[in-house]
Amino acid sequence: MNAACFHKSKHLSEPDLCEEDIHCPICQSTNRINRTILQEAPEIYLKQCLNCFAVSASRLPTKKTLDLYYSSFYESNDTKITFDDPKRFGRHLFDQTRKYLTNGKKTLSILYYGGGIGTISIELAKRYLDFGIPEVKVLIVDYEQSALIDDIPNLVINNCSALSEVKDQKFDIIIASAIIEHLPTPRTEITCLFELLNEHGLIYFRSPYVMPIILLLKKLKIDSDFTYPGHIHDLGQKFWDNVLDTFDLKNGFNILYSRPSIVETTFSKHFRRTLIAYLCKTPWYVLGNRWRFVGGWEILIQKGIPKTTEDTPERGT
Ligand SMILES: [Zn+2]
Repeated sequence: MNAACFHKSKHLSEPDLCEEDIHCPICQSTNRINRTILQEAPEIYLKQCLNCFAVSASRLPTKKTLDLYYSSFYESNDTKITFDDPKRFGRHLFDQTRKYLTNGKKTLSILYYGGGIGTISIELAKRYLDFGIPEVKVLIVDYEQSALIDDIPNLVINNCSALSEVKDQKFDIIIASAIIEHLPTPRTEITCLFELLNEHGLIYFRSPYVMPIILLLKKLKIDSDFTYPGHIHDLGQKFWDNVLDTFDLKNGFNILYSRPSIVETTFSKHFRRTLIAYLCKTPWYVLGNRWRFVGGWEILIQKGIPKTTEDTPERGT
C-alpha cells in the first residue's frame, strides 16, 4: 500500500542524508518521540513533535538526493499532476473558497504553490471567470518552469520557480496542495505563504495524514510504504488545528474549516483505491478526532476575522 500513487520509497545511504538534527524541522522543538522506523542501515525513524504535532523523518535527504529522486517523477504522468480529475478538484476549491471571498472583486489573484504546470489552478480560475469575476491572475510557483499556456480571455498566467522570487504581490487565494510534505524544512515556506495573503485572503493546505494507518497496518503485519524521501512529513488534524499557534498567527488569521481531504482518485480510474479512501474518511464525520485513519487532511484559513455568522468555522470535535 502506497501513501501516494506516483511516489515510492527509496532506501537512502549515509551520503544521501543530512546530519541528524534533534530539532523538529517545523517548530524547532526537541520534544519529539519515535513513532515507527522507516528504514534500517542507516536508521531513519518517523518522529512526532509533541509541540506542533508534525510527524517528520528523523533524517532529511540532501538536496542532491531529492533532485535525483524527482527527476523522473513527472515523466509517466502527461498532465503533470497527481490528482485523477483536475476539473473536480478545481470545482472543490471553487466551492470551498467562493463563499468567503469579498464580493465585488474586479481582479482575483491566485497563487498556486508547487502545482507543476498549474492545471488545477487554471480549472479554479475558469470557475471564477464563469462566476463573473472580470479578470483572474494566476501565479504558478514550481521548480518545473513549463507553465501551461492556456489562451483563455481574461485569464493571466505567470510562473516562477521559487517563493523567494515573488515580490511586491499579495494574493486573494493561495493553494498549497500536496506540497508541504515534500519540503525538507517547510517552516520558511509556510511563513512566506501566510505573508503573501491579501486582507481577507484565503489559504488552502492539503497534506498526507497516513501515520495512524501505517501504525495500524504494522500491528496487522501488513507492509506499507511512507514513500520517503518523496514524503518527509505527515501532517494530520492535530498539526493543522494548531497551525496558527505554531506560527504565532492566532490574532490575524482564522481557521474556516479543518477536515479530511477530498479523495484524490476517481472510481473510473482507480476503483479500489477510491473505495478505500471513502471508507477511511467517512467515519470521521461521525466520530470527529477520535477517528484518525483518514489518509489526508485539508484546511482553509482566512486572513482577518469572518464577518457573518454564516462564516462560523466548522471543525472536528
Ligand atoms: Zn514541531
